[in-house]
Amino acid sequence: MIPKKLSNVLFIKEQSLAGKKEIFTRLDYLNKTQYYDYEELKKLQWEKLKKLLEHAYETVPYYQKLFKKLKIKVSDIKTYEDFLKIPILTKQDILDHNDELISNKFDKSELKKTSSSGSTGQPLTIYHTKEFKTWSKAHQLRNYNWCGDYEIGDNFVLLWGTEIYFKTKTLVDKFENFLMNRKEFNTFTLNEKQLTKYCRTMSRFKPVLISSYPSSLLFMAEIMKKYNIKINPKAIQTTSETLTQEDRKKIEKSFNCKVMDKYGSRETNVISCECEEQNGMHINVENVFVEFIRDGKPVKPGEVGEVIVTNLNEYGMPLLRYSIGDLGTPLDHKCKCGRNLPLMKQLTGRKADVIVNSNGDFIDSYFFSYLLQNFPDVKYFQIIQNTLDQIDINLVVKKEANKEFIESEVKRKIEKFLGDSLDIKFNYYDKIITEKNGKRRIVISKIPFDWSNFVNKKK
Ligand SMILES: [Zn+2]
Repeated sequence: MIPKKLSNVLFIKEQSLAGKKEIFTRLDYLNKTQYYDYEELKKLQWEKLKKLLEHAYETVPYYQKLFKKLKIKVSDIKTYEDFLKIPILTKQDILDHNDELISNKFDKSELKKTSSSGSTGQPLTIYHTKEFKTWSKAHQLRNYNWCGDYEIGDNFVLLWGTEIYFKTKTLVDKFENFLMNRKEFNTFTLNEKQLTKYCRTMSRFKPVLISSYPSSLLFMAEIMKKYNIKINPKAIQTTSETLTQEDRKKIEKSFNCKVMDKYGSRETNVISCECEEQNGMHINVENVFVEFIRDGKPVKPGEVGEVIVTNLNEYGMPLLRYSIGDLGTPLDHKCKCGRNLPLMKQLTGRKADVIVNSNGDFIDSYFFSYLLQNFPDVKYFQIIQNTLDQIDINLVVKKEANKEFIESEVKRKIEKFLGDSLDIKFNYYDKIITEKNGKRRIVISKIPFDWSNFVNKKK
């Protein structure tokens, strides 16, 4: 471990030598803009958006064709209402027009390729410029700072579950981690023995900030209790999975610190993040233009809409009004922290995380976590909707659990909200149910998403 001040100086020096000095210039800028007043931020964002639109119109074949077909002139886009005329870009559009979406100002081979698996199973390939990466890194550092006042040089732990992430790590990356007091742990194949080892290492390392998935942290909490291991960071940042209030409370209690949730994706990098006030996620408006759309129109604050994102700093493969596949809610209150970056809530998580019935009633993962917290014998659960009238409830329970009682109670409560039209099947497993990459999804819907299924208000 290197003393914090020295680590800070060394890391910045090393990054400057590696040609990455711009990250810190951007970070300084972002640390100021977050306190700009709302109107100034709006202006800043609109200027960035206009510049990107002009670039797309002039250099991106896909947008040249599209704008011509729809008779849209960039000079005519003067207000947000004008901007709404640009059709929403879907994952399928990106799959169908991958090369056409790349600006002719860039050579594809110079861009950094990133692939995400996507819910449909077909891999989605996105290209990023170095400039985009620089902005993303600066935003990440700003968001880390919102959690426990983390600064470069503070001990930092990342528990991550992407095999590719660890496979592509170079010696330079490892050296940089060492310089900035950063330790990374692979959660791809997590078992008790491995995690106990991680926990002991972390306990000695004393991280200021830990970043991970809620499911990995809950697993850690169990190990810490079982083997009496103490890990007390100043803050924890969660991401990639739905963080329920119950899980947040459990993690906060075990690690004795606040948990802040972050929202992002491979395609866009960081979108929003909670600050220590924990009353919504501040949108990184200098990086992304976020819309919440339902039936083609923006929703009102507090209402649920589809999250539509425009990457403001991506000029290699500009994605305008991209539907990322999530649902969210814009919020209109001011945050006590003094930052004027607008707030949002990832209310129902991914679009694939909502259970519906044939009447249009729906419940989300929060409903289930609220319901199942009443059963102390249930350790983990997962709900899978296979058809409009059938769901599977997968449970990990303690040995002494009264399965009959749990099943009848859970069934009764679900039926209270969704009626008895659903056929509910219970399955039991003996360990935590995770995806291939180690992430846990509480609710998985296998039926196609359709707004018309959502006729009723959330209960
Ligand atoms: Zn705040």
